[in-house]
Amino acid sequence: MNEILMSLSLIATMSSKTVTLSFDDGPSPTYTPQILEILKENNIKANFFVVGQMLERNPELVDQEVAEGHKIGGHSMTHKQLTKISLEKAKYEILESMRLVNKYQKSDLFRFPYGSHNKTLDTVIEKNGYRAIFWNTDSLDWKIYDSEAICDRVVVRLAKDKDDNDIILFHDIHPQTIQALREVIKYLKDHNIKTKTVE
Ligand SMILES: [Zn+2]
Repeated sequence: MNEILMSLSLIATMSSKTVTLSFDDGPSPTYTPQILEILKENNIKANFFVVGQMLERNPELVDQEVAEGHKIGGHSMTHKQLTKISLEKAKYEILESMRLVNKYQKSDLFRFPYGSHNKTLDTVIEKNGYRAIFWNTDSLDWKIYDSEAICDRVVVRLAKDKDDNDIILFHDIHPQTIQALREVIKYLKDHNIKTKTVE
């Protein structure tokens, strides 16, 4: 870690920040079990925003997420950008994914694919008693292939950010996320930053 990162990390140490680890787009039979293993080793609970299609293909992994104390939420059925499809289709994407998620765990948490939403879609969420959950720290793990670079990016953002709770966005469908997660967790532990789920 370079000097700038070192001094930024000091700022983070002084705050009483908490962090939420969130994982979107799974469950993936290749990567989700590895992420669950790392979380278990470190006694950390996280949020998983599952895609309906992936849930239907890998129900045992959703069972495992719930059994191991994690909080799940919906992330649409097919991961389409909901602002770009008809309202009728967007409603189906939201409601059907939430119906499936609730077969595994009572949850009112929904995350819009790509964070893309508008007033009409917000109303659908509210009217059905759900809550839209976003993030303030994007790891860009879908775009950056180097684990260390992903971790550095997250650490810089955590150190700079003044929010009490930072929600980090990861994806449990990419290989580079695995080592990046290990490094981020090491940073959190070294700086005594606690984790919590959005409930
Ligand atoms: Zn997504």
